[in-house]
Amino acid sequence: MRSHTEYLWMEVPSRRAFVPITAQVEAAVERSGVREGLVLVNAMHISASVFINDDESGLHQDYDAWLEKLAPHAPTSQYRHNDTGEDNADAHLKRQVMGREVVVAITEGKLDFGPWERIFYGEFDGRRRKRVLIKVIGG
Ligand code: ZN
Repeated sequence: MRSHTEYLWMEVPSRRAFVPITAQVEAAVERSGVREGLVLVNAMHISASVFINDDESGLHQDYDAWLEKLAPHAPTSQYRHNDTGEDNADAHLKRQVMGREVVVAITEGKLDFGPWERIFYGEFDGRRRKRVLIKVIGG
């Protein structure tokens, strides 16, 4: 079995954003040489997500509005986590909803997606460097 690991650095200039990363994952799979296997992609920070959905900007605005309704950033004093001096309790909650990781099958050297599936990094407490792990296994 073959195994290949890469780390993708993210630095989002705003507090929240969705960043497409399918191309970077495809490139990592290509470099791995794996033809049949799996790729795991996960955010390595507890205020960011990796998820799969449609590459459609209206949907991404809908996610942002929906997450802000579920866990509004302000007032920051509404969250006990922020009693620690942080202001990112909402980011932890948003991350939990949008998920930590995705696993995609690799078939004949390609990501074996459904018709509209694409991979995104979800940032909920940006303006600093964070990492995404890409781990490819197979043969
Ligand atoms: Zn925190």
